[in-house]
Amino acid sequence: MKKISLIIPCYNEEASIPLFYAEAVKVLNGMDVEYELIFVNDGSRDGTLRILKELASADSHVVYLSFSRNFGKESAMYAGFSNAKGDYVAVLDADLQHPPALLPEMYAFLESGEYDSVATRRINRKGEPPVRSWFARRFYALINRFSEAEIIDGAQDYRLMTREMVDAVLAMSEYNRFSKGIFSWVGFRTKWLPQENTERVAGESKWSFWKLFRYACDGIFSFTQAPLSIASGLGVIMTIIAFLYLAFVIIKYLLVGDPVAGWATIICLILFIGGLQLTMLGVIGQYLAKTYMETKNRPHYIISEASDENVRKIG
Ligand code: UDP
Ligand code: MG
Repeated sequence: MKKISLIIPCYNEEASIPLFYAEAVKVLNGMDVEYELIFVNDGSRDGTLRILKELASADSHVVYLSFSRNFGKESAMYAGFSNAKGDYVAVLDADLQHPPALLPEMYAFLESGEYDSVATRRINRKGEPPVRSWFARRFYALINRFSEAEIIDGAQDYRLMTREMVDAVLAMSEYNRFSKGIFSWVGFRTKWLPQENTERVAGESKWSFWKLFRYACDGIFSFTQAPLSIASGLGVIMTIIAFLYLAFVIIKYLLVGDPVAGWATIICLILFIGGLQLTMLGVIGQYLAKTYMETKNRPHYIISEASDENVRKIG
């Protein structure tokens, strides 16, 4: 019998976890599989850990890993992948925005042998502020223009994967993790299931607009070098313009002979070029900062407590 591991990152989800658990167990018991539920407590400040402990002592299918602080969802997913024992592995949000009811269908696609991964994509952005949707669309247009990994608009982290794909994802051990890019970069055959946008059952979203914006920038800097090319491209263009202007000034001097004029032009040019240089330095700085973090080789997560004492605590 095949084993399915569900990975559930939880950050302040005390209200959602019992609902999620009930739903997930109902669905999994209806399938002909073994399973484990790996809850990753990402440094919650509410009763999440207490609830996870209760679940784990009542049900041997439940495993929990509890981080020493909040490391972020990407790290929680990584810890889950590292500790998953299943033949198939899925990541789901605790808030039931990723309905476990889709699992049997996803499982059937993988079992057919035609696909290595079944992922969901939102077909609408119902209930989302229009500004956020607009920025999201711009982001996907931008990153897909420049990145070698195709990043599908509306793609969610909710997907069921084969062991081969999970191992490939784990092999990408970079510190700056952008899962949407990683899942696509590793390749494999992916089946996309359309899904309506659902509201979370309880609690509230941890993503503010600015957090999402930063995450989007992370994605761009992690998966494209386009900003660097744009910087050098602009540099070349500016140099050409400068030479053309120089030629213009010399010719004008020879013909008309009026060297002093254009104070406003000079100030504008100084400001413009200064601004451009700072921006481009910033771009280079972004890559340098990422390189710096990568070379430090810090662990992705630190587990302070777990249901199984044999798990790797630092990874
Ligand atoms: N999450 C996490 N660590 C964080 C933020 C979120 O593990 O720092 C989890 C959260 O508990 C939930 C999932 O990631 O299970 C998605 O978070 P959320 O529902 O807030 O995001 P949204 O659905 O609004 O994009
Ligand atoms: Mg959510």
